[in-house]
Amino acid sequence: MNKTYDAIVIGTGQSGPFLAIRMAKAGHKVAIIERGLFGGTCVNTGCIPTKALVASARAAQVARRAAEFGVNVGPVTVDMKRVKARKDEIQRPSQEGAEKRLRDQPNIDVYKGQARFEESHVVVVGDDRLTSNKIFINVGGRAIIPPIQGLDQVPYFDNSSMMHVDFLPEHLIVVGGSYIGLEFAQMYRRFGSKVTVVQRENRLIPREDEDICAEIKNIMEREGITIRLNATCITLEKRGDQIVAGVDCTHNPVPVVGSHVLVATGRHPNTEDLGLDQAGIEHDERGHIKVDDQLRTNDCNGQGGFTHTSYNDFEIVAANLLDNDPRRLSDRIHAYALYIDPPLGRCGMTVDEVRKSGRKALVGRYEMANVGRAHEKSETQGFMKIIVDAETKQILGAAILGVEGDEVIHSILDVMYAKAPYTVISRAMHIHPTVSELVPTMLQDLKPME
Ligand SMILES: Cc1cc2nc3c(=O)[nH]c(=O)nc-3n(C[C@H](O)[C@H](O)[C@H](O)COP(=O)(O)OP(=O)(O)OC[C@H]3O[C@@H](n4cnc5c(N)ncnc54)[C@H](O)[C@@H]3O)c2cc1C
Repeated sequence: MNKTYDAIVIGTGQSGPFLAIRMAKAGHKVAIIERGLFGGTCVNTGCIPTKALVASARAAQVARRAAEFGVNVGPVTVDMKRVKARKDEIQRPSQEGAEKRLRDQPNIDVYKGQARFEESHVVVVGDDRLTSNKIFINVGGRAIIPPIQGLDQVPYFDNSSMMHVDFLPEHLIVVGGSYIGLEFAQMYRRFGSKVTVVQRENRLIPREDEDICAEIKNIMEREGITIRLNATCITLEKRGDQIVAGVDCTHNPVPVVGSHVLVATGRHPNTEDLGLDQAGIEHDERGHIKVDDQLRTNDCNGQGGFTHTSYNDFEIVAANLLDNDPRRLSDRIHAYALYIDPPLGRCGMTVDEVRKSGRKALVGRYEMANVGRAHEKSETQGFMKIIVDAETKQILGAAILGVEGDEVIHSILDVMYAKAPYTVISRAMHIHPTVSELVPTMLQDLKPME
């Protein structure tokens, strides 16, 4: 059937539905199309379910450490069926709610199926041909499955299929030592699996500064996770019930023998089957759509990769479109968290990036081992650091690796958004006892960046 709309939204991730609802409430007739599960990655296979699993893993870890706190609990066992059921109970209402919210809106038509551009203003879904002058792409991404030798011969998981696991892998081999791989590695170690992380580069999460990478490696190793770095040539092979991972083709070091494999080597935009070329939409060789400063797409544009960046995409588009408010992508400050335990909260530039930019900067660092609140909680791993522009006195970036790091980082992020000098924080009185109370102290002892 041919139908014409005021707007078409492709994908129901973290921006499309919000935009569809705002436009519908403003009186526009909107079509929204979803080919998979409503709510997209965050709701179904990303943030929500993984953070629910991280919480179960933490409960196991706290129970194991209970005696340290003077609490006796006996031997700790993990019921993986219950862990999965709890995760499903937390995630399912978000998914069902995402679909219901759209279907309940009088001005929205919901289509289920694969959307594909036929031309710049026409999208086809099943037998329907939809036309609009305004088409918004919110198709997100999925796990990259890299060309690893032997991968097609062995069973393996990605972040989506991992969501169905309700048993304890004896030995999980995690291929990829970045954000997603490390969250799964630590949670499965805490559930009781043996875990080996196989990482191609010479450090974990190479995008972070070296001191952060090194401390994250320490945190993982202290829990008994094996890290194999410099795995320049990874191979996989099935031997009976086991999977053998070769980590280097030339030097023949000891292979990793495990029971299950998780591939966590990055994400790929869902754009190759969208008909971008038919619509004349420019994209780079990886499939990321090119956008301007008032962007019209989200995760698939390569400008974020997080739920909050996708939601912020919605806010920027809606402000420009409906509120006459010229918000820009370039107003956004990079910020995210890594949900290992303790977590890493990050905002702005790394020291490496500041160095490359050629700016003069000051750096502050404070060990979690010197934070009272961390001692009270027996969570003293990690450190915080902050980078300040030596001339403008504005904060350029920060990393809080330690207990509550994902929350504490926001006090720094907000001062960055205010474009205020760091002295606003260094002279502030913070509440005792908190981790945040040491952020001013850290800022009172800045040293020139080396
Ligand atoms: C394991 C994991 C953990 C994560 N943890 C966090 C975290 O803690 N914090 C955080 O901020 N981010 C996290 N992320 C990232 C976050 O989930 C994503 O950045 C976010 O969900 C992207 O949202 P989006 O709206 O761009 O796209 P998505 O949520 O991917 O939604 C896109 C939707 O479009 C649909 N679609 C695609 N192509 C078509 C088509 N042609 N036709 C119709 N429908 C289509 C898809 O089915 C999907 O439902 C995590 C990701 C993973 C994988």
